[in-house]
Amino acid sequence: PPVYVQRYTAVKNVLEDDRWHGKIRKVVDFGCAEFGFFLYMKHIPGLQEVVSVDIDYEVLNHYCCRAAPLNADYLNARQEPLTVRVLAGSIADRDPRLLGTDAVICIELIEHLYPSTLEAVPYTVFGFIQPLIAIFTTPNSDFNVLFPDLAGFRHPDHKFEWSRFQFEDWATNITTRYPAYTVKFQGIGQGPKGTEVHGCCSQMAVFFKLSHFTPALINHPTSQHQDLEAEECEET
Ligand code: SAM
Repeated sequence: PPVYVQRYTAVKNVLEDDRWHGKIRKVVDFGCAEFGFFLYMKHIPGLQEVVSVDIDYEVLNHYCCRAAPLNADYLNARQEPLTVRVLAGSIADRDPRLLGTDAVICIELIEHLYPSTLEAVPYTVFGFIQPLIAIFTTPNSDFNVLFPDLAGFRHPDHKFEWSRFQFEDWATNITTRYPAYTVKFQGIGQGPKGTEVHGCCSQMAVFFKLSHFTPALINHPTSQHQDLEAEECEET
């Protein structure tokens, strides 16, 4: 599958992991864009509320119909209702409607943020919302040498692209500032055989609130989900 599908699947697998089944009821998806991940998330059992946030009002206006149920959803209905709220705003805004959230998701968002907004991210997520789980994905710049004609970043709106070391440094620094959390890393989108030294196309950090997840629980392998094998890569 293409890398974006592997990314959505990896994030979804974290949310519905049977090790913490039932704990994730409210999710905030920052930088939801075209509601691509929402279409994966809406089938997760036990989920009760999704708050989709993006700074781009036009994009939200155009795509928010994707948050509405499809006819097929009535045939194969969820066990419990799912409330979806769509908010136009920045991840830097600490809005009370974000409180009570169990999981925060930022898929390919941070590399689009200017430094002052990026600096606000830990305050919003770990200082204000304080979710049980926070998931961030971002391109792995170590992998960029494998793109033949890449001049600069993978996308014109990227403000930076981080190596695995830089991303891990950013994330572990957050756990120093917010010691209630620990963080785990995973690559998404393996390259062709022989390119393993560059890591994967994309990288994911998953923060866990230690008061709710013991290290034994976090480190214990999940019974349900396997890491995905990548077959192909695409630029993001
Ligand atoms: N998460 C989406 C997905 O995986 O399908 C794609 C994210 S897209 C690459 C980045 C999105 O972040 C854009 O829709 C952009 O409008 C949004 N964005 C940029 N700055 C933001 C901010 N300060 N707060 C919230 N969203 C922001």
